[in-house]
Amino acid sequence: NPFARAKYLLAAHTPQQLPADGGYEVAFAGRSNAGKSSALNALCQQNALARVSKTPGRTQQLVFFDFPPYDNRFLVDLPGYGYAKVPRDLKAHWQAFLAQYFRERQALKGLVVVMDIRHPLKEYDRQMIAFAVEHGMPAHALLTKADKLGRGAAGNTLQAVRKELLALHGDKVSVQTFSGETNIGIDEARGVIAGWMEI
Ligand code: GDP
Repeated sequence: NPFARAKYLLAAHTPQQLPADGGYEVAFAGRSNAGKSSALNALCQQNALARVSKTPGRTQQLVFFDFPPYDNRFLVDLPGYGYAKVPRDLKAHWQAFLAQYFRERQALKGLVVVMDIRHPLKEYDRQMIAFAVEHGMPAHALLTKADKLGRGAAGNTLQAVRKELLALHGDKVSVQTFSGETNIGIDEARGVIAGWMEI
């Protein structure tokens, strides 16, 4: 697992705080409570890696993790969306920052969108996926908490989501089932992310 030695590097509130733009990074997005932190922890085989991203009041930031011995490679935790409890001017600042990040960041190679398999493709999920594709990046969807469904139901949801994303975005977007709890799909997810980072 190339991500096993992942550790917190920094949190950026403004473009000036971003690490130098020259490497490879993959960003993680998802609705609050979808299971994004658990997915990051599972991918990196750690218990509390992504906890820092969730500190109350510190949610409007990009949290960077690096993973030695790989240089200039980062996993980036985007704030969970879907909770409206953000003051309006902060939200505007944040959206501008995120837009600039997607538009200008050379290092950003792909977007992972974490969705609860029981509630996939909500409005913001669709927007994030479209946002990535519009900026020339691939997106990979994790249908997480797959352990909460039976195999048949999980497979049916996977097929339905895959069909819909294929119709919308063709081969720019891929999707898989996942569980941070039982490690369903963990090797597949690591493979996609490592591939984008050329490791
Ligand atoms: P985040 O807000 O997207 O970072 O969500 P968390 O990772 O904190 O997870 C939200 C809740 O869902 C927590 O209670 C987790 O224990 C639970 N959860 C996350 N991933 C899984 C999973 O794969 N399987 C199950 N059964 N529960 C999960």
